[in-house]
Amino acid sequence: MSTLDALPTLGATARVMLADEVYSVLQQAVLDGTLPPSARVNAGELARRFGVSPTPVREALARLESDGLVEKHPLKGYRTTDLLDPAQLGELFELRLLLEPGTAGHAATRRSDTDVRALQDEVARARGAIDEPDAYALLSQHDVRLHDLVFRSARNATAHTAYNRTHCHLHTYRLSYTGTYVPDTVDEHARIVEAIAEGDAKKAERAMRTHVERSRSRLLLKFDR
Ligand SMILES: [Zn+2]
Repeated sequence: MSTLDALPTLGATARVMLADEVYSVLQQAVLDGTLPPSARVNAGELARRFGVSPTPVREALARLESDGLVEKHPLKGYRTTDLLDPAQLGELFELRLLLEPGTAGHAATRRSDTDVRALQDEVARARGAIDEPDAYALLSQHDVRLHDLVFRSARNATAHTAYNRTHCHLHTYRLSYTGTYVPDTVDEHARIVEAIAEGDAKKAERAMRTHVERSRSRLLLKFDR
């Protein structure tokens, strides 16, 4: 039996599955551990399973490779990557601490009224999701959007691209998939948004630094168990 047998089967739409759909199905399978670390991912087998030609599968695998979720081995094809170890997680958060507090400070001075409304709406939506049964998934998506909105509000496309290339949310989500979302996170986000809305750069920087440091501590706890 192949690991790929664990993937969801697809209905009648399979024949028209596009690279985007193949990509989302595979990405979810890597994130939730259906495809565990170091699993062999054979393009031909996937194409047969999904009933599509090899082209969308190859496109999807190339995107997953740039996400850092699969890697191509010469002659052996694709395998899923390992989970981050504590040292790699430490490096990722060191980089986030270089990028994000300063970005939050710039957001406080450069944001438009529309940015402020979008940030406030995002926090309000997150508060509404805390008691939902799928809170962990909903709030993980909220986290992605919140940090993205802060980068947009700071108007520095280069910093935003550098941040996106770390794919930090994918890797931390994969690491803590079975975890529970800590409601403190939403309060920390609310403090960042409040400072950005007030136009207070120093306060926004401090609030973001505190949030990223606490996120790092929460994730490192997982390695102690
Ligand atoms: Zn966050």
